[in-house]
Amino acid sequence: MLKSVHDFVSTERKLLIGGEWVPALSGETFTTYDPATGARITDVARGGAADVDRAVAAARTAFEEGPWPRLTPSQRQRLIWRIGDALLDRAEEFAQLEALDNGKSVAVAQGVDVAWAADLFHYYAGWATKIEGRTVPVSVPWVPGGQFHAYTLREPVGVCGQIIPWNFPLLMAAFKIPAALAAGNTVVLKPAEQTPLTALLLGEVINEILPPGVVNIVTGFGDAGAAISAHEGVDKVAFTGSTEVGKKIVAAAGGNLKKVSLELGGKSPQIVYADADLDLAVPGTANAWLFNHGQCCVAGTRLYVEDSIFAEFTRRVADFASQVKIGPGLDPATQLGPLVSQEQLDRVTGFIRQGLADGARALTGGNQVGDQGYYVEPTVLVDVKPDMSVVREEIFGPVVVAAPFSADRGAIPEANDSPYGLAAGVWTQDVSKAHRIARELEAGTVWVNCYNAFDTALPFGGYKQSGWGRELGAAALEQYTQTKAVNIQL
Ligand code: NAD
Repeated sequence: MLKSVHDFVSTERKLLIGGEWVPALSGETFTTYDPATGARITDVARGGAADVDRAVAAARTAFEEGPWPRLTPSQRQRLIWRIGDALLDRAEEFAQLEALDNGKSVAVAQGVDVAWAADLFHYYAGWATKIEGRTVPVSVPWVPGGQFHAYTLREPVGVCGQIIPWNFPLLMAAFKIPAALAAGNTVVLKPAEQTPLTALLLGEVINEILPPGVVNIVTGFGDAGAAISAHEGVDKVAFTGSTEVGKKIVAAAGGNLKKVSLELGGKSPQIVYADADLDLAVPGTANAWLFNHGQCCVAGTRLYVEDSIFAEFTRRVADFASQVKIGPGLDPATQLGPLVSQEQLDRVTGFIRQGLADGARALTGGNQVGDQGYYVEPTVLVDVKPDMSVVREEIFGPVVVAAPFSADRGAIPEANDSPYGLAAGVWTQDVSKAHRIARELEAGTVWVNCYNAFDTALPFGGYKQSGWGRELGAAALEQYTQTKAVNIQL
């Protein structure tokens, strides 16, 4: 382990409020654990409602009185860009800390989480200078002959609360912070209680670059998140996490009708047609639910396979899944690390047990691995029925359910039979079919002959109960700006 990572976890970590590292007002702390062993990593300040008050006040001062919204766009651009550079300079350190706290492989943490987080800061740095209004040709019917010059301004929303989950701790912070900053907002971020560390290291980086109070970080539990979502001084809340908590946030936000954007759960389908390139589709569909140990909101966990190839295809997927190398995140050879917590382990194994009790059959997997750390075997379940909990609910572990469909009926009714609509995968070599099916799927993202093929420029978000609004791309800036119409009679 790098000395800097060792040093970082050797001291108790505090809250970042108004540019200062401070303990929680209550003095309380909580422990964050290494999911590979269950051992304590370090203690972190447990922020509560009173700390959220302080953080919101600091963000408000930075917004109303600080330089941030008044800097020129190009000044903001340069500062946000520097955060991306710092992430790349310290990529190994961020990756090790992420692997330690979350359990994901250090190679994935560096190659995906940190690299993409840096890209997000660089991408939104560029947007700071490109947030433009429009001129609008107007005629006001009750001012005959009147001439007007009308235009729109896109202004920041204000203080933005951002509440993030544990599956991509640094990356979820990077999905949210730079888009808010590019538009001139200030931020109060609440990382997940399971994985607070990389957000705090990011806070150290940010604190060296941005004025105080522009980004504040309050570590803590759901009560701190609830305080943010109900806070009268917060103008907008952005949340990624479970659909259940997303609904609570909508209710809490009603007090001051703050703007809300939500990235919630999923139970994403993948449809494999008999004409697919199977050598591509076997690893492709498997990685779609194995990536990040299945702890992905977009995980492609419902596999619908054309009946003529169902038996062979699912056998090959099961073979592939049974060969992935399971181990701790800090081992560079690891492909599948531990789940994030004991709670998540219990949840995933509970779903598997229920599925088997309901009549599903495991082609591979089905069990916990060893008795130390939170490891679960990659699990392929067949003989499933549409009403089983393993088919309907988000498991958030390395578990896929597979069912056959007939070519004449297609798989669209099954694929769309979910309250979720986050993502979907289509595997076929027939171009027309690919486009047709992409239109029929009720999902915010459709991948064809690939999966998890994200790009910072592509809008991301959910249909149905998978969310409100879009992150990434230019679309995210809609969440972080409000439009003012100005009409001048000439
Ligand atoms: P969660 O939704 O409870 O937690 C996500 C974040 O919300 C955390 O920071 C948490 O502290 C905060 N939070 C909790 N209660 C809150 C409240 N009442 N108001 C405001 N914020 C609150 O997710 P979880 O408990 O960590 O995981 C449970 C399940 O959620 C998982 O098994 C998975 O199915 C799903 N999940 C989805 C995603 C995703 O990216 N869509 C991410 C994590 C978890």
